[in-house]
Amino acid sequence: MADKKNGRGGGGSRENECCDFCGSRRNDVELLLTSSDHRLNICNNCIAEAHKMLVAGGIIKDNARRTSAAGGSAYKAPQTMDELLKPVQIKEFLDQYIIGQDSAKRFISVAVYNHYKRLICSREGFKDGDIEIDKSNILLVGSTGTGKTLIAKTIAKLLNVPFTIVDATVLTEAGYVGEDVESILSRLLQVADYDLEAAERGIVFIDEIDKIARKGDNPSITRDVSGEGVQQALLKMLEGTIVNVPPKGGRKHPDQDFIHVNTKNILFICGGAFDGIEKNIARRMNTRAMGYGRVQADVVDRGNLMQYVMPQDVRSFGLIPELVGRLPVLTYMEPLGKEALRSILTEPKNAITKQYERLFDMDGVELRFEDAVLDYIVDKAVEYKLGARGLRSICEAIMMDTMFEVPTSGSRKFTVTLDYAQRKLEKINFAEFKQVV
Ligand code: ADP
Repeated sequence: MADKKNGRGGGGSRENECCDFCGSRRNDVELLLTSSDHRLNICNNCIAEAHKMLVAGGIIKDNARRTSAAGGSAYKAPQTMDELLKPVQIKEFLDQYIIGQDSAKRFISVAVYNHYKRLICSREGFKDGDIEIDKSNILLVGSTGTGKTLIAKTIAKLLNVPFTIVDATVLTEAGYVGEDVESILSRLLQVADYDLEAAERGIVFIDEIDKIARKGDNPSITRDVSGEGVQQALLKMLEGTIVNVPPKGGRKHPDQDFIHVNTKNILFICGGAFDGIEKNIARRMNTRAMGYGRVQADVVDRGNLMQYVMPQDVRSFGLIPELVGRLPVLTYMEPLGKEALRSILTEPKNAITKQYERLFDMDGVELRFEDAVLDYIVDKAVEYKLGARGLRSICEAIMMDTMFEVPTSGSRKFTVTLDYAQRKLEKINFAEFKQVV
């Protein structure tokens, strides 16, 4: 069978030979090595991949690790306090990309600063009597599309560390259908190009953490393998331990070689919408005697209870206390109002409208959006509850035809008018649209 596929035996031509590992054809790769018994082929890409895994696993020494222009790892960590960005500087960077969310940005700036102080301490080594600083993993609570992923991504960009996003809903307890929690680290290793040292300083964003909340308090005959089971599996990883990671991800099996990843210095940022958590917050606040909570009852902003979120609310929502304890930095994301949505369209460094202007500019076309169009886009996003994520999809629907025509139309200028935008959106079925946002 393999011989047939590879065009060997039976007079198959050399051009038809393929790599037995990835399936690439000889013509599509630079090198295809054949085993001495002529039964197996391997291409240069698979050899390079195997090499990286051996290096990451410490099985062979690395002579050709990913290097920056100056040599060494492409990811460079600050070595001294002087090199560390201060919280104000971190926040200023976040401000360029993220609209609003002032409280979350401040919390995260401090958490990241402390995280790197901790790294410097651990690099210098501990002497007896030294105070060891705990990890500052972060939990972001806020509706979808408020910028949780964007904040985590932007932090990773600033720090130049490997960054990966995983969806907690695909994780299951070991041995069940789904992905083991170790797969999180396989992904981090892959994005770090198997630079183990860099991966061990990376950032992992675990999205939809609220979806692995314990399913009620009723003891059930079926195990909660995608809820509490996953939370238990995450505990050690979040705190810091050596995890045996299958280099290619997927399920562990006994004959596999593992890469040992130390998670002690990996920063975990977890995010979740925690739909309905306001009820838990309200309940807690109502049962508190006035003045004993964080806020007095008469100044409570009932319209936005999320801002008062505390660890006990996340626990009563269904995260186990041990997990909540390992996410000591808890902050919330504000719901985005019209004004914020309008700013998101035009203000961030890579705002959506700036991106279109750049695309048109590359064709030599000056693009302009009428102010009324921007208001109209925001109104539609609010009307159909599409949030910030919907802004991009609405713009895409408006811009599609002109992006198709303008490069060959010979025009040098294009203004998106309200009338034009309304005509383009007339055809859109927003109910269907919502499902893809
Ligand atoms: P979440 O993770 O909270 O569901 P995302 O970070 O994925 O939300 O946001 C989706 C998109 O919406 C982002 O890529 C970004 O374009 C936009 N967006 C959301 N919130 C903000 C914000 N506060 N500032 C700027 N852009 C935002």
